[in-house]
Amino acid sequence: MLKIGILALQGAVREHIRQIDELGCEAVPVKSVEDLKGLNGLVLPGGESTTMRKLLDRYALLEPIRALAAKGIPMFGTCAGLILLAKEIVGYDLPHLGLMDVVVERNSFGRQVDSFEVELSIEGVGNDIPAVFIRAPHIVATGDNVEILAKHEDRIVLARDGQFLGCSFHPELTEDSRIMKYFVEMVRESTLVESY
Ligand code: GLN
Repeated sequence: MLKIGILALQGAVREHIRQIDELGCEAVPVKSVEDLKGLNGLVLPGGESTTMRKLLDRYALLEPIRALAAKGIPMFGTCAGLILLAKEIVGYDLPHLGLMDVVVERNSFGRQVDSFEVELSIEGVGNDIPAVFIRAPHIVATGDNVEILAKHEDRIVLARDGQFLGCSFHPELTEDSRIMKYFVEMVRESTLVESY
């Protein structure tokens, strides 16, 4: 059974656990370095990226997560999780994990409307996929090897850079688990490659 960790320091953790369980994988809440052992994939949830960064430092998780990425383990960042993964954040000198070849901008969908829901067509995933945006970031630029999978109002909201998947919104807050299923497939494929 595939083991998928969910960084469980803060934010929308439970909903990801439910989707991962429902897709037949073992969901492992990650609160310490030991919890990273034996994972086939890792989800970085939404929440508040600056708070999560403080907690990553407090629990000394930043380098161990980078080491896991260096082994080729797939990672999926949603909303604040995407900000944690990005190599560059507009207005900041340094990134957090700095793994995914994208530039992100925080809180980029306007101040008046803090949250909204739309339906997206997603490359390789399907149509009419509900997406909940909550003080969401968006991807302002992508590296050469990054596939753009979805846009909303001409802004990139879902992209893949090899082993890294990142989205602006919260796919776990709906009953539709097709995006998580896409990530689980990425994880399954990476384990097949490793066994040869
Ligand atoms: N605005 C938050 C941040 O910058 C992200 C919001 C979210 O994850 N829903 O970290």
